[in-house]
Amino acid sequence: MRTIGLLGGMSWESSAEYYRLLNELVRERLGGTHSARCVIWSADFAEIEALQEAGDWDAAGALLAGAARGLEGAGAELLLLGTNTMHRVAPQVRAAVGIPFLHLGEVTAAAVAAAGVRRAGLLGTAYTMSGPLYPEALGAHGIEVLAPEPGDAALVHRVIYDELVRGVVSDAARAAYREVIARLEARGADGVILGCTEIELLVGPGDARVPLFATTRLHCEAAVDAALAP
Ligand code: GLU
Repeated sequence: MRTIGLLGGMSWESSAEYYRLLNELVRERLGGTHSARCVIWSADFAEIEALQEAGDWDAAGALLAGAARGLEGAGAELLLLGTNTMHRVAPQVRAAVGIPFLHLGEVTAAAVAAAGVRRAGLLGTAYTMSGPLYPEALGAHGIEVLAPEPGDAALVHRVIYDELVRGVVSDAARAAYREVIARLEARGADGVILGCTEIELLVGPGDARVPLFATTRLHCEAAVDAALAP
């Protein structure tokens, strides 16, 4: 089994989910007392959030590139960046290491394409909903991206930063997200990407009529496939 490296803490609420899923998936595949070989670097999310707000992506990229080198030095044989938003600096992170980098956007796009989705709704932070991550990754498969209307996008972003990354999972937010998803469906989305690694703590398959693509789970499945490949 290869050792998985995770750049986490963005936020740790989702990294805890990564850690649980990686271990559960290895146990499902290998049985017994098997668990995932992994090394985790975990950020102080307040520092990351401040760099995001300042638009200082160069500094954020340098910070995460250094952390990625640390994981490689600690024995990681493949690398995950456990946040959609910070894939904005994926090129710097990928270039910093010699080990394979499992790109969250590419992994998700492959699953969306395999499901036959043509127009994918997208929930995530404002950075992700307005950024190039999913238009590029899904565009490579000829799939259109549909972001929420501005009022809904603001709500989705606010719930992530004011609630989910702080460990708050509320019924009110779940109801609001369901309505946002329903409006994406009404606009023709035939699938919805939960494009923020905390969102699957809030909503799941019962909250939509169309398939939901849970990026944390998809990322972990791809990592375990790679870790256990011959
Ligand atoms: N984990 C989130 C994501 O997947 C948001 C936190 C962050 O800004 O990194 O985008």
